[in-house]
Parts: sequence; C-alpha cells; structure tokens
Amino acid sequence: PVYHEAKFLKSSPNLKDTPPDWGKEIAFAGRSNAGKSSAINTLTRQNSLARTSKTPGRTQMLNFFGINENQRFVDLPGYGYAKVPLDVKNKWHQLMETYLTQRKSLCAIVLVMDVRHPLTEFDWQMVEWCQHTGLALHILLTKADKLTYGAGKNTLLQIQRELKDVTIPITAQLFSALKKTGIDEVHQALDTLFNG
Ligand code: GDP
Repeated sequence: PVYHEAKFLKSSPNLKDTPPDWGKEIAFAGRSNAGKSSAINTLTRQNSLARTSKTPGRTQMLNFFGINENQRFVDLPGYGYAKVPLDVKNKWHQLMETYLTQRKSLCAIVLVMDVRHPLTEFDWQMVEWCQHTGLALHILLTKADKLTYGAGKNTLLQIQRELKDVTIPITAQLFSALKKTGIDEVHQALDTLFNG
C-alpha cells in the first residue's frame, strides 16, 4: 500500500462506533510519550496525521486512519502515566481488551517503545495480549538517535532474547522519527503483516 495516502477516518470511544470491520487493520500501541504519534506521522510522511489522536477527548479513543478501501491503521490510546485515575485505567483496559479480542479485521500490532526504556510492564501486557489472541507483533524501538549505533543494536538483541519464548511471530527494529531512519524497514514489515 501507499502509506502516505493515509487519511483520518474517525475517532471511536467504543467498538460499536467504528468503521466497518472488513479488510485489514494494523494497530499501533505504546506507552504515552514513547513516540507513537511521531512514528505514525513519519511513516505516512504527514506532519500532523496522528496529532488528531492527541486532541483532548480523543486520547482515550480508537483513532482510525484509512490507507485505502481495504487497509487501515488504528492509533490505540497511549498508556502510562501513574497519575491517571482508576476509572480511566479501567475504561482503557476494557476498550483495549474488547478491541483486541473482537475486531476481526485486526491483523497485527505495532508496539512502539522508547529504545531507552524498552519492555515496560505495559509493553509486556501488550505482548501477552497478542500472544493470547494470536496476533503478530512488530516492535519499533524508536528514538534510536538517542543512543549510539552499537548501544541501539545491543538493545535490539537483548529484546529479541527476552522475547524468544513468545509463540507469536515477532519482529523488531530500530527507528528514529527525528533522523528518519528505519522507514523502509517498517514499510516492509507492514507490507508483510498486511499480506500475512
Ligand atoms: P506519543 O505520546 O507516543 O505519541 O509520543 P510523541 O510522538 O508525541 O513523542 C513524544 C516526545 O518524543 C516528543 O517530544 C517527540 O518530539 C519526541 N520524539 C518522538 N520520536 C522521536 C525520535 O525518533 N527521536 C527523538 N530524539 N525524539 C523523538
């Protein structure tokens, strides 16, 4: 697909109010501030596509982007800040679980992590959810420009080791929205996931 043709479709607070569940969807997950919006904007070559997801009120929603008639990206609500009230956390959990288990067109998850803080508790929960539902996973270790090349490679190898017992297909790569590195590799991974 031509990823830069992605267009915002809609924000949905629950699964009832989503675009029709046909074709294929790849959803982006990540801890708040991991660099998810920057990654989506970079790989679609649009400066503010994922900003829509940061509009107050939309941060706890599923944000849908159409690439073409049959392929979509979904920006999942970010997770992270400890200070979020319990009812917001519960609502987040419920929305994520419903979406991940019931969305038929969902074919894979891209999990965005800050290369300096990989595999947080949230990230492990996503890995476990994917394992549970049999979804393929692509890990983007972003902000790679913050580390030397060698340190980035070491983190990548370390993560591959830590995930070696996970039974779903997992791929992982380094990425930088700032330096625009790793874009071809993400596009190839997305092509494979959409076709898989
Ligand atoms: P989100 O909350 O996961 O959507 O994260 P954002 O995309 O908004 O990024 C959070 C912060 O990290 C912002 O200040 C970005 O400018 C910064 N950031 C995102 N990607 C990169 C990157 O590849 N390199 C660097 N150095 N900073 C980045």
